[in-house]
Amino acid sequence: MTGSSDLGQRDVDACLRCGSTLESMGVDEFRVGGTTGGWKLLFGEWAELGEGMLKLEVRACSNCRQVEFRVPSEGG
Ligand SMILES: [Zn+2]
Repeated sequence: MTGSSDLGQRDVDACLRCGSTLESMGVDEFRVGGTTGGWKLLFGEWAELGEGMLKLEVRACSNCRQVEFRVPSEGG
């Protein structure tokens, strides 16, 4: 476990692995509830709020190809 002491100012658009800039791949809708219990592990009560679609912004790192999901900002 290393590198966990620098929480604080961190570029939200930077890759957690290599620090490169994540490129947005757009917003996709993912189905939550039902049989996919894994979402509850990831999103907790969020997954229980609505048994429907969860919008997530997909961001990919062009350097190490790590993919991250982020909740898109409301009112956009
Ligand atoms: Zn990366």
